[in-house]
Order: sequence, then structure tokens, then C-alpha cells
Amino acid sequence: MQRLILVGGGHAHVVALSVMAGRVPRGLEIVLVNPSSHHLYSGMLPGFLVGNYTASQCRIDLQALLQAAGAELVRARVTAIDADARCVRLDNGRTLAYDWLSLDMGSETPQAGLEPLGPRVFSVKPVAAFFDLWPTALAQAQQATSFSLSVVGAGAAGVEIAFAAAHSLRRVCPNVRVQLLSSESGLLPGHAPSVQNHITTLLKTHNIDLLTFSRDAAALRADFVLLATGAKAPALLRESKLGLDEAGYVLVDSTHRSRSHDNVFAAGDVCSRDDVPMARSGVHAVRSGAVLGANLIAVANGAPCKTYQPKAASLYLLAYAPRRAMASWGRLSVSGWLMWQLKDWIDRRFVEGHSRFVMRRAQTNGWLTR
Ligand SMILES: Cc1cc2nc3c(=O)[nH]c(=O)nc-3n(C[C@H](O)[C@H](O)[C@H](O)COP(=O)(O)OP(=O)(O)OC[C@H]3O[C@@H](n4cnc5c(N)ncnc54)[C@H](O)[C@@H]3O)c2cc1C
Repeated sequence: MQRLILVGGGHAHVVALSVMAGRVPRGLEIVLVNPSSHHLYSGMLPGFLVGNYTASQCRIDLQALLQAAGAELVRARVTAIDADARCVRLDNGRTLAYDWLSLDMGSETPQAGLEPLGPRVFSVKPVAAFFDLWPTALAQAQQATSFSLSVVGAGAAGVEIAFAAAHSLRRVCPNVRVQLLSSESGLLPGHAPSVQNHITTLLKTHNIDLLTFSRDAAALRADFVLLATGAKAPALLRESKLGLDEAGYVLVDSTHRSRSHDNVFAAGDVCSRDDVPMARSGVHAVRSGAVLGANLIAVANGAPCKTYQPKAASLYLLAYAPRRAMASWGRLSVSGWLMWQLKDWIDRRFVEGHSRFVMRRAQTNGWLTR
């Protein structure tokens, strides 16, 4: 019997598990270590804030996926990895040995310079915690005559959160001030100037101030400060003995196999490709997750691995109002109700597809009996 441990039930492992369902060879035990039994889909978070979706509509049931793949869930956090000794340590004190390891723990939020703000500062990651936090922020705003919110970080996540939070807060409080603070790289780095200009105009229309953040925490006099400051490698990787890039992410090849340990794979925000530049995004986590799932089955069968080739441009759909979104694809941008319809369709299809469809497929094909 060989054991494959999956660490983190994020975008990449959700897709990997659905690819693996029904294809797991006998003699391979699969264990997912994740703090929760569901995955909350970040793409639907802005829709949750404005009331388009309930939290349960944004949730993918990991249990159903695991059952379909004949895998087991251990509800815990990994606190240490020893890639040389082939084991992981959990926050419940257990140590699990593995033959194969797959990492999809996402990334952390950089907070440097913001510690003095203390209890008023919250991070949009982990997304699951943010889903729980938002009703508290709304209740606080509802009790107040005025409320101020600063969103730090003007990438795709920060922009969407600023629009959605402004809309949501203004429904419960008469006097709301929202500011979006960008780094020196400006608004939506990596997106085309047409997208940046259009979003700048929309921010003005929606009464959201766009400022440059000087890392001076004292300048942030807000009731609530939300950090959407991008990605930082999980700290526990430093002691893992895995080969890492200079920023501390797991270095992988085009098959998403670790450069230092060939029984370890990684996908999503936690990894770094050394052959091609790849943005940390849900799009790449999902697409590389499909290749990861196929490769985890391939190595267990002694078969060759597939490679993941990221496309030069990915489609981003940025929600800026309850039923409006802007599509950003390379140099092109289109906005309005139709783009929101497209986003809503893609997001719902992803969540519902991985919750109910996989389960139905498993029941129809009799995979649940293995
Ligand atoms: C508000 C918001 C909106 C976004 N919108 C978009 C978008 O529209 N398009 C896009 O492409 N990208 C978007 N992103 C970025 C996208 O969410 C991330 O790139 C994506 O989540 C990365 O997926 P992942 O598979 O690496 O990990 P994640 O989906 O982040 O999941 C990581 C999982 O690992 C678990 N975990 C973490 N540490 C441990 C541990 N020590 N032990 C066990 N489990 C652990 C976590 O609980 C979590 O379940 C958005 C991000 C945010 C915050």
C-alpha cells in the first residue's frame, strides 16, 4: 500500500480530485489534510458581499469529491514538512508518513508595516475566514452613523473587494467612505491600460478614493482595513527541505513536480515554475490542478507525466457592481451586464460542477463502491 498525502483543499486539489475520481489504482491510499470539509470559492466572494450569493452557494463540498476519489479527509493544518524524512506534522500532534506528497496550500498575505493597526486589520485570505468575518463588519457599520473602510492592494482581488464592500456597506450605513490603496505598481498591474483607465473611471463613479499607499500605517485612519496585498509564500516551507525559489515558493517543473524531491508535487499559489512565468491566480491553479490530478495517478501507475503550458493571456472577469463585470483579456476589455452573466455562469458551473456533478457521476459509474 502506498500513501499519497494532499495538503490543502484549494482550487488546484478540488480539480485534481475530480480528475482522479474513478481512476485511483488499487494499493494507493489518498489522504487530504485540510482544516475544513469544504472549499470556499474566492471568485464568488465579491458576489457574496453584495448579496448575489449565500455562503453555501460559494461552497464546494470536499467530502463528496473525496468520496468519489476514494480518499479520506483529515481535518487539520500541516505545521511542518520534512521532505527528506517523507512525513508531515499536523497541528493535532499527529505525524503522517507519505510515499507521495502534493501541495496546494495557497499563499499568505504580506502584512509588513501594518502591524500597528492591530485588531482593525483583516486579510481577505484565508477566504473562508473572510466569509465569516464580513457579517461582523456589516453589523458594526449598521450600528454607526459613519463608517470608513480601507482596502490595501489594488490588484484584481482588492479592486473587486472595494467595489463590493462599498456597495454592501452603503446599504446599511448612511455615511460610508471607502478608499483603495495601491502600491507603487499602481492599479491592476499586469492588466491593459484600457482596463486600468476604465476601472479608474468606475471607482470615481462609485465614490471610491484611489490613493497610493506609502506603507505609513498611521495614514490609515479607517474603522476597517482589509489587506489584499498579494501573495507571500507559506512560512512553513522554509524548513521543509524542499527546493524553493528566492521568494520561498516550491520550485516545480512543467509537470508540477518538485525540482528537489521527485515524490513531491505542487500546484496553485504555493509553487513557482522555473521554466515559464506564471501569475498566482485561480485560473492557473484550476488549469494546473487538472494536470496535477492526472500526474498523481500516472506516477502511482509508473506512467509518464503530462506538462502544463500556461497561456500567455488569461481571461479575468472583475465584478464592479452587483450585476456588472469587466472582462480583461490581454489588451482587450469589455464591461457590462453580459460580462457579469458570463462570470456568474462560469463561477456557478465551477462550484456546482465540483460538488454535485462529480458525486452524480461517481454514483452512476459505481465508483463509490471501491
Ligand atoms: C477576493 C479574491 C478574489 C479573487 N478572484 C480571482 C479571480 O477572479 N480570478 C483568479 O484567477 N484569481 C482570483 N483570486 C486569486 C485566487 O483566489 C488564488 O490565486 C487561488 O485561491 C489560488 O488557489 P490555490 O489552489 O493555490 O489555493 P487556495 O484556493 O487558496 O486554497 C488553499 C487551501 O489550503 C488550505 N491550507 C492552507 N494552509 C494549510 C496548511 N498548513 N495545512 C492544510 N491546509 C492548508 C487552506 O485552508 C485552503 O483550503 C482571488 C483572490 C481573492 C482573495
